[in-house]
Amino acid sequence: MNCKIIQDLLPLYCDRVCSEESAQLVEEHLAGCGDCAALLAELRKEPTPASPEEAEENTREQSSFQAVRRRFSLKRRRSVAAAVLGTALLLLVLAAADRPRPVEYREGLLTAALAEDSVLDLYYYGGGYTSVDALCRKVEEENALFLCYDRTVRAQLLGAVESLWSEGASGHLSVGNGLLLDSEKGDVIQVMPMDELDAVYYLSGDYDNLMRLDAPEFQAEAERAVLLWERLP
Ligand SMILES: [Zn+2]
Repeated sequence: MNCKIIQDLLPLYCDRVCSEESAQLVEEHLAGCGDCAALLAELRKEPTPASPEEAEENTREQSSFQAVRRRFSLKRRRSVAAAVLGTALLLLVLAAADRPRPVEYREGLLTAALAEDSVLDLYYYGGGYTSVDALCRKVEEENALFLCYDRTVRAQLLGAVESLWSEGASGHLSVGNGLLLDSEKGDVIQVMPMDELDAVYYLSGDYDNLMRLDAPEFQAEAERAVLLWERLP
C-alpha cells in the first residue's frame, strides 16, 4: 500500500470517521511503516487539549466578546429609542407651533375709527395672524365687544417674511350690521349691531374658555382688556 494513500486516510483514521476496511488497511500499513506511524502520532498530538489557564482565557475572551456584543446591541437599542423619542418630540413641537396663541396687546397693534356709515374700521399692525376671536358682553352696563388676534408660530414667521416687502396693516376688520368681517381672511363673526355697541376692547385670551365664564369671572378677565374704541356721550 502506497504511503501517500495512507497519509490521505490518516486524518480520517485519526478522527475515526473512515470505514472499517480503510481502518484495517491503515493499521496494517502502520505496523510496517515508521514514517506513517510517526505522522499519525503527530496528528494525534495536534489538537492539544487546552490547559486550564488557556481554557479560562478562551472563556474570558468569549465572554468579553459577548459583552461587547451586548453593549453594542444595547447602544443600538438606545439609539433607536432616542430616535423614536426625538421624532415624538419633534411632532409635539410642530403641533405646538401649529396651535394658535393669542397675540398680546402692544402699543399701536390696532387702530379703530368709526366711519360715517356707522361701520367701525379696525386696522391690525401685528404682522401675520391666523384668525380673529370676538365676543360681546355686557360689562358694567356697557355693551362691549371683545376681540383678539391669534396666530401660530408658522403664521408669525410667514407674516415676518411678508412684512419685508409689504408695509402697513396686515389685517382689516369692519364691525357693522351685527357682523364682524375679517376682510383679510374672509371670516365673519356674529356680534352686536354697531349702533348698540358702547365700546370695543382688545382682550388676549382663550375665547372658547372666555365664553364659558359667568359674569363675575368674565369681569375679572375683562380688567386686562385694552380699550380700542368708545362711543362718545
Ligand atoms: Zn507508509
